[in-house]
Amino acid sequence: MKPRLLSGIQPSGKLHLGNYLGALKNFVDLQNSGKYECYFFIADLHSLTEEFNPKEKSKQVLELMADFLAAGLDPKKSVIFQQSQIPAHSELAFILNTLTPMGELERMTQFKDKSLNPNTPSSKAIEQSSNRTSPNVGLFTYPTLMAADIILYDAKFVPTGDDQDQHLELTRTLVRKFNSKFPARRSLGEGGGNPFIEPQGLHTDIPRVMSLGDPLKKMSKSKPETCLFIDDSPEVIESKIKRAVTDSDSVVKFDPDKKPAISNLLKIYSSLSGQSVKELEHDFSGKTYSDFKSSLAKLVVDHFSKYRAKKKSLLAKPKSLALSLNTGSKKAAKVAEKKMAEVKKKIGLAL
Ligand code: AMP
Repeated sequence: MKPRLLSGIQPSGKLHLGNYLGALKNFVDLQNSGKYECYFFIADLHSLTEEFNPKEKSKQVLELMADFLAAGLDPKKSVIFQQSQIPAHSELAFILNTLTPMGELERMTQFKDKSLNPNTPSSKAIEQSSNRTSPNVGLFTYPTLMAADIILYDAKFVPTGDDQDQHLELTRTLVRKFNSKFPARRSLGEGGGNPFIEPQGLHTDIPRVMSLGDPLKKMSKSKPETCLFIDDSPEVIESKIKRAVTDSDSVVKFDPDKKPAISNLLKIYSSLSGQSVKELEHDFSGKTYSDFKSSLAKLVVDHFSKYRAKKKSLLAKPKSLALSLNTGSKKAAKVAEKKMAEVKKKIGLAL
């Protein structure tokens, strides 16, 4: 049997180059390697932890489905599903919450960063009455929902960007805790194996794409002007790359410590073109940053031109996208419900 692999992306607007090079491109490569049983999902419950408009949400779900398919995910090869359609995700997350000390969640970097982000919904009433910002509880328990996403499918591998490493580490801690608290009981006819398996992260060679405006910060949609969205028009791509910050000298050389800006652009170039950074340094020796940026802009525009056309044609048939997603959700639900029944039995909730 092939090992199972799972990952998700939040439907909260357009995908940027970080989502693509850190995650989606890898999803497609891993799917096509034929080595894994692949599950990919639209993390719509997770996306509720950030400010959203209910009129836009279902559109964002279908748009992400179109992104998945346009980038090369294939429902015949992978199970592609919508998280909120499977109640077991929230159910298991609650059970995992009861195993998780508050302190573990309080030290999560994503929680700390997003708590400071003005786009995160906090109760306006609380804010106004007490004059302070109070991040929502969903953001606080994001990592336990992520652990539930992974554990429900017995996923061995989880491809993500490196911003998710801390959450994955917590998932492994919870797996170990659950296994030691609720071991298999032979007296009940259970096999000798542990109930949950420990997942492993999979990174691409560019697990953290940096911002075009500040190469020391992660590219993030919270600053759209410093983000390259993969369906930005060719004109916007060219203009954003032209304006990307560069380092003080003008030599195209990879040196993440001394030249973080050009090093980030070189990694992006290498990842999209398949050329090594060394080859690129050689090709651009004696050339200016401006030459390099023009060439990178052309590469990005060309790389996503088929994707853009395919996405447009997929979005013209929203019913067919919804049907395909619902079919995947039904398949995933069978696996998740079976696991949830095992969990309930194990912790004594099944009568
Ligand atoms: P999210 O939008 O938080 O659902 O992220 C979807 C995927 O994109 C996750 O696997 C993230 O780790 C990955 N990701 C987000 N931003 C970046 C970035 N700047 N560089 C690399 N991967 C990223």
